[in-house]
Amino acid sequence: MTSEPAVRILGPTVDDQTRCVHYAGPLDVIAIRFHCCGEFYPCFRCHAETADHAVSAWPQDRFDAHAILCGVCRTTLSITEYLDADSCPACGSAFNPGCSLHHSIYFE
Ligand SMILES: [Zn+2]
Ligand SMILES: [Zn+2]
Ligand SMILES: [Zn+2]
Repeated sequence: MTSEPAVRILGPTVDDQTRCVHYAGPLDVIAIRFHCCGEFYPCFRCHAETADHAVSAWPQDRFDAHAILCGVCRTTLSITEYLDADSCPACGSAFNPGCSLHHSIYFE
């Protein structure tokens, strides 16, 4: 695990754990780096309102990309690690199981 400088999160965030105006529950603590632009947003609705282009989903052969950020401890997870986890392997913060409803937007 490398310690990287602060990741820039775009979109209308409401705190420093990546909650946004759309998803601000206790479990909403991840940001996703979008395949289309390489930028982190808290959710697809943030991307839709802030970015000037359509979302493209991560192809399966790129699921090793560290595209998920835990907003609590700032660890990045690969997509594969994230899809296999229901909580952050680094800090134990639970992830919102409701996010899986939207996986097809982010991941092929
Ligand atoms: Zn984008
Ligand atoms: Zn949002
Ligand atoms: Zn964490």
